[in-house]
Amino acid sequence: MNNRLKFNQILPSLQQTCLLCASHQGGNLGLCEPCLNQLPWHNTAQCRQCALMTNNEICGNCLSTSPSFDSTSTLFSYDYPVDGLLQHYKYNANLNLANTFATLFLEKHHQHISTRNKVDCIIPMPMHQHRLKERGFNQALEIAKLISKSLITKLDYASCLRIKHTPPQASLNLQERIKNIKGAFQCTQNLHNLNVAIVDDVMTTGASLNELAKTLKQAGAAHVECWVMARTLPK
Ligand SMILES: [Zn+2]
Ligand SMILES: [Zn+2]
Repeated sequence: MNNRLKFNQILPSLQQTCLLCASHQGGNLGLCEPCLNQLPWHNTAQCRQCALMTNNEICGNCLSTSPSFDSTSTLFSYDYPVDGLLQHYKYNANLNLANTFATLFLEKHHQHISTRNKVDCIIPMPMHQHRLKERGFNQALEIAKLISKSLITKLDYASCLRIKHTPPQASLNLQERIKNIKGAFQCTQNLHNLNVAIVDDVMTTGASLNELAKTLKQAGAAHVECWVMARTLPK
């Protein structure tokens, strides 16, 4: 729980209204304790590599086609009401929610992160400059900034660019997503032997994370892990 203490020192102490039940007990995170407890925490048995629910260490998908990333740590299942919170964060630029997600992610994974291979740098999922102009901020970058500050780990948002302006992945099926995202990223730095963590808000099929991880490995990264706020569940 040390990370929450650190965060509370960085950010002004606020007693926010709970975003979900409108009680005045939302604290710094904008969520009261009862609402926090009811969130869809992604805690079920899951694949070490892609966080899909399975009782095996590695799921069938990852066994048949191994992704370029080595592991995935998730916070929530992409389910009610987290889906709404993430939409609210993304489309209404509710930046307090970046703090909420970053803080909860660190609380959940603190032990795991500090006892594993040390991460050398954190790379947020890059956004194409056209989309950045439309939205005004990169939702993955805002969360990554807070995580890197708390872990005192380098944030690298300049080495990796999204060079292909693609339709939103949400409207596409798996095959289309893979095709859509191919060649979308470019890494301008040598990442030789580095352990890299990619931060993203939602992991659906993992096609974007896989393509980015592939690009980072081609640039020399030794180990790539995904830190995602929510994992969608197969319907
Ligand atoms: Zn509440
Ligand atoms: Zn898997």
